[in-house]
Amino acid sequence: MPAPATSVQYVKGIGPRLAEVLAAKGIHTVDDLLHYLPFRYEDRLNPRGIAELRAGEMATVIAEVRNSGLFRTRRMPIFQMTAGQGRARLKCIWFNATYLRDRFKPGQTVALYGKVEQDHYGGELQIVQPQFEILGDADDTSSDAAAQKAAASLEIGRIVPIYESAGQGRLSSHWFRRIIHTTLETLPPDLPDPIPEAVRQHLSLISPREALWKVHWPEPGESLQDLQSSRTPAHIRLIFEELFFVELGLELKRRQQKAQTGIAFRLDEGVRSAIKKILPFHPTGAQKRALKEIASDMAQPSPMRRLLQGDVGSGKTLVAFEAAIIAIENGYQVALMAPTEILAQQHYFSARRILEHAGYRVVLLTGSLEDSQKRDIRRHIVQGDAQLVIGTHALIEQKVEFAKLGLVIVDEQHRFGVLQRFKLMKKTGEPGNSHVGRAAPGRPAEQSSAASPEPDVLVMTATPIPRTLALTLYGDLDVSVLDEMPPGRVPIVTRCLPDDRSPEVWDFVRKQAAAGHQAYVVYPVIEENEETELKAAIKMYKELSKKIFPDLRVGLLHGRMEPDLKDQVMRLFQKGELDILVSTTVIEVGVDVANATVMVIEHAERFGLAQLHQLRGRIGRGAAKSCCILMTGGKVSEDGERRLDAMVRTTDGFQIAELDLELRGPGEFFGTRQAGLPSFQVANLIRDRQLLEAAKLEAATVLAGPNAEISKEEIDRAVRHMRTRWQGTYGLVEVG
Ligand code: ADP
Ligand code: MG
Repeated sequence: MPAPATSVQYVKGIGPRLAEVLAAKGIHTVDDLLHYLPFRYEDRLNPRGIAELRAGEMATVIAEVRNSGLFRTRRMPIFQMTAGQGRARLKCIWFNATYLRDRFKPGQTVALYGKVEQDHYGGELQIVQPQFEILGDADDTSSDAAAQKAAASLEIGRIVPIYESAGQGRLSSHWFRRIIHTTLETLPPDLPDPIPEAVRQHLSLISPREALWKVHWPEPGESLQDLQSSRTPAHIRLIFEELFFVELGLELKRRQQKAQTGIAFRLDEGVRSAIKKILPFHPTGAQKRALKEIASDMAQPSPMRRLLQGDVGSGKTLVAFEAAIIAIENGYQVALMAPTEILAQQHYFSARRILEHAGYRVVLLTGSLEDSQKRDIRRHIVQGDAQLVIGTHALIEQKVEFAKLGLVIVDEQHRFGVLQRFKLMKKTGEPGNSHVGRAAPGRPAEQSSAASPEPDVLVMTATPIPRTLALTLYGDLDVSVLDEMPPGRVPIVTRCLPDDRSPEVWDFVRKQAAAGHQAYVVYPVIEENEETELKAAIKMYKELSKKIFPDLRVGLLHGRMEPDLKDQVMRLFQKGELDILVSTTVIEVGVDVANATVMVIEHAERFGLAQLHQLRGRIGRGAAKSCCILMTGGKVSEDGERRLDAMVRTTDGFQIAELDLELRGPGEFFGTRQAGLPSFQVANLIRDRQLLEAAKLEAATVLAGPNAEISKEEIDRAVRHMRTRWQGTYGLVEVG
């Protein structure tokens, strides 16, 4: 057998040209080819006789082509083919299918699959747009009889795998069936199993060879339903294997992080009372729990790598500040990295209110500062008198040198995935690779030596990722969850209205303003036509400020504004000196104005679910009742309806995330591959959550060895296999 990592180009029958076509499908190696699973199976063991078909059923029929032809109707060309078995006939039609014109020849055997229907006119049975496959040509004399018979046996009289075709149909399902079959035949009988024996037993996994054969060529008795839902033992084995090695990599990474030298922060009475002193309110139970977990990590001599996950408004900032105090009271500096300048601002506001007030020295480093100011601030940081440094990721990662950095807080509103995080950790985590954590020039040598301890890292995310997915995405982190909202919140009421009812909406906004509250009015800015959208926001701002609310104070905020101006507007709104803030989605993240009680979102159908949820999270932060109004303009797609409906129905971020995931699929949900989510060969994160849990558990068990169940050799072998896989499939050279 060619080695699994061999390029498919060397498989007999492929070659460089077809290899390119396959590459577009993500099939690069022999292993990829073997893991190119059927997306459907057809029971050709029991193909149906045409005479016994019933309208409404899905059926596979194997029959002979009788005649075919293209008809032009006024609306579109229709291709019709009649297949027969003896006297029985079945009509098949395809719309707009000029390309089928020369496809069928009388006498050919074809397999047809689709939904049987009653023809409206003639009353006879037909299949509209069936899947089809030509099994044999009447005049096929090219190959010898034995080979033909063998080939035919792959197509009929069994459960047949159906593959997605590649290269615009150039490589058909039929082609894949043969090439994969040939490749399977080269598998050695004793194909080694990279999964340790103990794990195999825990999950009753079948061998890799058996799994590969059966997933492509199911045995006659196999349940069609299990096959279609990828739940046969063969599927489970392959899916588990993939997830297991992903989790093994993450687990190993975690262990290595733990093994590094960190800072064991002191947690004495002094620190405790310092924390108590700053608290503006009683922490929620969830906040207490999270702080306890964080504090206990920080007290450990190994570096903390923890994710603080909590819906918008759950109070993550307070917890982060508490953690900051632990570090500062121990004589260390803290860096807080925000994804945007506005958010950095926002954190700075809160930090000043809560921390500066208590005598801690907080600095804000933003791109909009004068160079001389930046230099000044950097000097404070290098000298160690700035205790909490707030800025954007870019600023802090690239240019800042700390005297004594003890804790890095990463506010991650965007969805970083595993891969990106590895890069980030590398920056913040390895003194030699980054300016972060490196001692200032002129400091004692031992502080800048490679032995200087790793700072602790706390990542905050507002993305309510379903727990099982957090396991994969954040598999290298420990997770604390804020699953409780601060008390006194009045639930937000959400309504959805077409935009011709805007007069009512503006009336409502006016009433709220009269009652002393503030409102956001948000417009979508979609990147491709940012210019026109931006104009729409600006135009609406003019209309709202001049015509609709000439008596109210209306402000405008968008991403293209000068940072100084943005600041000024935010400050005005924060201080209550604006009644209405017209804005693009720049306010999506982190803005915290408790007096704002109305969020009007125009063209809400154009926003993603997560984005809508984030936007809505800007209100409902105080004790007054808040209202989110989703206005729709124009036609709303089916998915759009579902998104709006979900928003009206629930404010639970986790429920919304689940639906979002379902609507968009994992790739989109996490922002495609850029988000650093490994793209899986056979696993599907939604469908296979349980297997993911199991894989995580087993990976941890394996690395806890060796013991009676698992030998050192087995562990080493599994880890070696994991490394090769991670490098090959996920391009992750860094792991391990
Ligand atoms: P997040 O960052 O998780 O979106 P914030 O930290 O901005 O949430 O908190 C949201 C709001 O709730 C802030 O106005 C904050 O001051 C307030 N808050 C946080 N914790 C509590 C608490 N335990 N009790 C009352 N209010 C709280
Ligand atoms: Mg520590």
